[in-house]
Amino acid sequence: MVPLQDIFTGATEEAKDALRFYEENYSSIGQWIPQPRGKVILTSSKPGVCRFCSLAHPNVSFRKEAHAIPECLGNTSLFTKYECDACNKFFGDGIETNLGSWSKAQRALSGVRGKRGVPKLKEESSSRWRFEHDPTGIKITQDETDPIAVVNEVTKEITLTVHRDPYTPVAVLKAFAKMAISLLPEEELPSFHAAIAWIRNSDHQIGLVKTSFFPVLYTFVPGNNPLVDSVILLRRRRDTLPVPYVTVVLTYGNEVFQTVLPSLERDAALSGQKVRFPFFPTPYELARDLEPVAPIQRERLDLTGRSLLARETIQTVLRYELSKRDEAAGNGTAA
Ligand SMILES: [Zn+2]
Repeated sequence: MVPLQDIFTGATEEAKDALRFYEENYSSIGQWIPQPRGKVILTSSKPGVCRFCSLAHPNVSFRKEAHAIPECLGNTSLFTKYECDACNKFFGDGIETNLGSWSKAQRALSGVRGKRGVPKLKEESSSRWRFEHDPTGIKITQDETDPIAVVNEVTKEITLTVHRDPYTPVAVLKAFAKMAISLLPEEELPSFHAAIAWIRNSDHQIGLVKTSFFPVLYTFVPGNNPLVDSVILLRRRRDTLPVPYVTVVLTYGNEVFQTVLPSLERDAALSGQKVRFPFFPTPYELARDLEPVAPIQRERLDLTGRSLLARETIQTVLRYELSKRDEAAGNGTAA
């Protein structure tokens, strides 16, 4: 087989290095791409048994469609048949609500469609400003006396400062883990009994593994729909390799999140070790002819916090162009 780094000859050195790492250590379990039209329902060899609580019909029901990837991330097509209604409601009201609250501001900026369309952000106390997408672009409405959007007409940039809805960081990690467990082939489930118990525990003070073992690698690619929404699951090639057993790469909107699906059963040997975990490359780093509209941003996020965060703010910079007509009228339009 031709090594991947030889196929992507236009890749940056860092991307080639990452490709080498993932090729040596991991093989793909699968890749899932939600389709706007059409429906895929993943099934189990044991119909009527819930993957999460292990209860079976008729003790639990399976009337609702269970989203394999949370609906708030824009998934309207990929469902599972092995999540009971009780677990579906429990996750929906709990960790997936945390994921929705945590990601809402950025989703509004990126235009990812969730259950109720693209989220509209508004200042709850005063309704002095609103931020929404419509077919013509982004619309920001605000009271000039209390700017949440600051426009710099020289650099043609709008800096938006928005509050996140309250969320508990580790609940967001659990929502990532729950999504990965929903997509796992069933023969992998014995390696994740502890992880399933962890995501089913509504007490977020109860930890699973050392928090240092939970990096979340975050990539932001600027532009209008620069990436294809997908989830990729990768499994360690051999148990002797010093890397986590399963990693998950989630792409939606302008963002890529990469983390570990923790396996107490498989990853015990890694405890206390420094584990290498490079960023999975985006198409922009693999092909020379793909150019993002602005530099790709990367950081390591810490989502291991166990307490509710009530008033966190995030800041985003948008660039805009003036169309001829707007320029004449003296109005700017966010691009
Ligand atoms: Zn269940």
